Amino acid sequence: MEDMEALPVRFPSRQHNHSSCVNKLLGDAEEECRRQKLRFTEHRRKVLEIIASSHKPLGAYDILEQMNFSGRRQAPVVAYRALDFLINLGLVHRLNSLNAFVACMAVGEDHTAQFLICRQCKNVGELNSNRVSERIEKDAVEAGFQVDQQLVEIIGICYECAESG
Ligand SMILES: [Zn+2]
Ligand SMILES: [Zn+2]
Ligand SMILES: [Zn+2]
Repeated sequence: MEDMEALPVRFPSRQHNHSSCVNKLLGDAEEECRRQKLRFTEHRRKVLEIIASSHKPLGAYDILEQMNFSGRRQAPVVAYRALDFLINLGLVHRLNSLNAFVACMAVGEDHTAQFLICRQCKNVGELNSNRVSERIEKDAVEAGFQVDQQLVEIIGICYECAESG
């Protein structure tokens, strides 16, 4: 785990202790809300727990289904608001290519993420490379293009899926 800190790459291994990922994320979420004087409501926590249940991205529909609102009419609105809240706080990232959501692996760190999406196990990792984002920014600016946001999603195969053929 220690040398993972040195590299700007985070990809979940099969053997990792996922409950510690979830605990860390929920702790970071509480901390972040306290710091910004925002409320970590039950719905916000629930949506975050659902998304963080694995490192595989979840679509909005899957999230709604797991919210288990049993037919309450406001349910989708509440869920979407909670989702927006979590995205704005940097706890959840939206993957545009999959139209799905994944929990951040580097909460609290000011980071741009390039996402590593394994097409086999479906797990998503983050390449938090400032070198990449600075390079894109620099080249875009040189071309006279002003960057608002970078959405970099890399599809491929992770180390363990490649190993198991
Ligand atoms: Zn995990
Ligand atoms: Zn992140
Ligand atoms: Zn994989």
